[in-house]
Amino acid sequence: MTSSEEFARGIKEVPAQQPIAVGTGKERHDMQVEMRDRIALVTGAGSGIGGAVANEFARRGARAVALVDLSDRIGAVADQIRRTHAKTVLECFQGDVTNAGFRKEVFDAMTSRHGLISVCIPAAGITRDSLAVKVDRTSGKVEIYPVELFRFVTEVDLVAPIYWSLEMVARIAEWRYSQNLKKWTPDEPISGVVIFIGSVSSQGNKGQIAYAASKAGLEGAAATLTKEAMYHGIRCGVIHPGFTDTPMVRALGEEYIQKHILPETQLGRLIRPEEIADAIMFMISNSAISGELWADAGWHPSAA
Ligand code: NAD
Repeated sequence: MTSSEEFARGIKEVPAQQPIAVGTGKERHDMQVEMRDRIALVTGAGSGIGGAVANEFARRGARAVALVDLSDRIGAVADQIRRTHAKTVLECFQGDVTNAGFRKEVFDAMTSRHGLISVCIPAAGITRDSLAVKVDRTSGKVEIYPVELFRFVTEVDLVAPIYWSLEMVARIAEWRYSQNLKKWTPDEPISGVVIFIGSVSSQGNKGQIAYAASKAGLEGAAATLTKEAMYHGIRCGVIHPGFTDTPMVRALGEEYIQKHILPETQLGRLIRPEEIADAIMFMISNSAISGELWADAGWHPSAA
């Protein structure tokens, strides 16, 4: 292995030696993306879906995973993962995903210590729910969703995930250029994957004007990046989870969950973060997948 191949190790795409076990374990794929030895990055890894994704990377033998979060909970999440999957190196980076300087520091640190990051799951997200236009029934006054709040939510939920993924694409593109590589071909031993975390709310949800716009916006970003980044061997997709059992959803309160969420799903329960993580692993490991995957537990809310 040359030193540049060494640098790019972990972004190797290989023909499947054995069928990959997904779901029932019976499916076969012509090509699988090796998770082992990959270098991955997960934002929002201090909680819920991001934490479950980081754990799944380690369980599947990723060489190194960057856990990024505003919260210091990432330390506890990493400790928990290490207890069962000691081989994977877990690097914790506490900071704000909207900070471009922090983003570059994380990529610089991971690249110098481990090589190129080739899987990016920008899962950090927030909700700030309120009706788009609210009428006060007593005073008759009308309130519009504050534009500052709209900008804040879209910075975290739309702009940040896009820029974390662009950072990865840029670094792979730069490395490939340095190797005099042109348009990616399947015989090239490197590939990358970005999976954005959308939401069922991308189809519209009362009280979520900024969140829904952000999640729908990720679809456009993914569609564009798919077309641009395939030149560099990078696939792009969006998973749209339904209501998943994380602090974000628990904050809605038990009564709301029982009354307004569970009756509208086929499963009759919240989705487990591990189920979303498993679906993301499927999207990463199956080379034929790009575009969108709905993991919504049969969410079918009435229009009223
Ligand atoms: P969560 O609240 O459990 O976790 C979100 C994490 O993001 C937290 O650890 C938080 O600290 C981190 N974070 C928030 N703002 C940040 C910032 N500026 N910088 C760095 N970290 C920041 O939520 P979750 O349910 O695990 O959500 C993960 C992703 O899944 C989000 O993008 C969310 O929109 C999406 N999603 C969740 C559901 C659901 O039902 N839980 C459904 C659809 C989509």
